[in-house]
Amino acid sequence: MEILRQQFLRHIGQTSPSPMLVEVARAEGVCFFTPEGKRYYDIIAGVSVSNVGHGNPAVTEAVCRQARDYMHVMVYGELVERPQVRYAARIAEYLPAPLDAVYFVNSGAEAVEGALKLAKRFTGRRRMVACRNAYHGSTHGAMSVMESREFSDAYGPMLPGVDWIRFNEPEDLGRITEETACVLVEPVQGEAGVRIPQEGYLEALRRRCDEVGTLLIFDEIQTGFGRTGEMFAMSKYGVTPDIVCLAKALGGGMPLGAFVSSGRIMECISHDPALGHITTFGGHPVCCAAGLAAMEYIIDEGLLGSVERKGALFETLLGGHPAVKSIRRSGLLLAVELGESRKLYRIMEHFKESGILSDWFLFCDTAFRISPPLTITDEEVAEVCRIVVDCLDRL
Ligand code: PLP
Repeated sequence: MEILRQQFLRHIGQTSPSPMLVEVARAEGVCFFTPEGKRYYDIIAGVSVSNVGHGNPAVTEAVCRQARDYMHVMVYGELVERPQVRYAARIAEYLPAPLDAVYFVNSGAEAVEGALKLAKRFTGRRRMVACRNAYHGSTHGAMSVMESREFSDAYGPMLPGVDWIRFNEPEDLGRITEETACVLVEPVQGEAGVRIPQEGYLEALRRRCDEVGTLLIFDEIQTGFGRTGEMFAMSKYGVTPDIVCLAKALGGGMPLGAFVSSGRIMECISHDPALGHITTFGGHPVCCAAGLAAMEYIIDEGLLGSVERKGALFETLLGGHPAVKSIRRSGLLLAVELGESRKLYRIMEHFKESGILSDWFLFCDTAFRISPPLTITDEEVAEVCRIVVDCLDRL
């Protein structure tokens, strides 16, 4: 095995026994390239991160400019840093009222941690409700709101006081009680294999939270920044949470997370005790500059207006194939259901040979993921589908 791959296996902490082991030399638009010049179509945008495409010049210019001006100066929340403030104000413009206070962190898991702490602190309650088959991150707190015997046996004890509901099951909403600080839910479940909320479900969830004084937290870490065709999925489904968690595409390719709430709720985290939630690098100025540039690009290029059409094109070009059992989709977030994990493992091998980077889902190993950069053109959608169909034919 070539030396760099040997060093990767020896010196890089591994996440699974079977990494892809493909070296990346350069990435541009919807593609990345190996040092040998082999092209891969990235049809998952680094798992819903690179919504404005790899190497987007607007983002790289913003990064270089901000890196020249200043990088880290002081821990989060003390100095006024223009990229943070401007980005927070822009995000607030696109969120429904009263969501206008942005607390920046470094990642999705940290956004979830902050949101859970904020809800406990604001309500004075200690119990939390989360959905089965949801993924919210790998830190202890975020893993505690993921129901998995396998993970909790390996890493427990988890946080106490978590109750579970099934997504899309209104009869479970009674588990949300006057003891519940918060309910954490993805408006479209990602790692469950793209599960779309049924008509009226999110509204019923909102009503139940209001009845018992529980805060509703949306995890929009995968669905944010245009993925479902609206800037945020909450607008697509017409329900406003009390807190929203953002990450992934938030940083335009740089590491950034945030939890956002109203000023009324957010203020409680700043006192009694002060410094009850702090971060050194949260809202790093270079990451905020990158994220703001990416968000402006989505707006200026009118990307939101093309998401539905391109998502539907994928569905049309792949949906008729005999190996495809069904497609679940919200905008440009698709799960292509093959019905058998054996087939999924095989198609992943075909994808690797044929230059397609896809992935399966943590809680669904019978479907593959399509969530490309929103910048993908109709021609690129057609070319990707031609290769994917060829791989499906070989199953
Ligand atoms: N929430 C959702 C819905 C996610 O998909 C992820 C990551 O895949 C996370 C939270 C955790 O984000 P991070 O990996 O940045 O900690």
